[in-house]
Amino acid sequence: MTIFERIIRREIPADIVYEDDHCVAFRDVAPQAPVHVLIVPRLPLVNVAAAGAEHGELLGRVLLAAAEVARRLGVAESGYRLVLNNGEDAGQSVHQLHCHLLAGRPLGWPPG
Ligand code: AMP
Repeated sequence: MTIFERIIRREIPADIVYEDDHCVAFRDVAPQAPVHVLIVPRLPLVNVAAAGAEHGELLGRVLLAAAEVARRLGVAESGYRLVLNNGEDAGQSVHQLHCHLLAGRPLGWPPG
C-alpha cells in the first residue's frame, strides 16, 4: 500500500483540501510553490502509463477535481500548473497516480 492510500484511509495525517467520490486532494508535504496540492484518485493506479481505456473517465475526473481545487484555493484566475510525473525520468517517487497542482508564483518554463 502506498503512502497516499494510507492518507486516503485516514491512517496517516494530511492537510486535505478537497475530496469527492473519485478523488482526494491534500497539500504536498514539501511544497514547491505557495500552493502545492496533490490530487489523487481513490482507485490506486500506478501512473498514467498503467491506465487503460476503462480509466478514461477517472482521469478526466482528476483534472476536473484539480480545477475545482484551484477555484477553492483562489488561484483559478492567477493560473496554475498541473503535473503528472510518470516513471523514473520524470522523478515519480510515489507509485500511485497523482496530479500536482502548483500555483501562487510565476512558474518557469520549461521545467528543469
Ligand atoms: P512525485 O515525485 O510526482 O511522485 O511526487 C510525490 C510527491 O508526494 C512529492 O512532491 C512529495 O513531497 C509528496 N509527498 C510524499 N509524502 C507525502 C505525504 N505524506 N503527504 C503529502 N505529500 C507527500
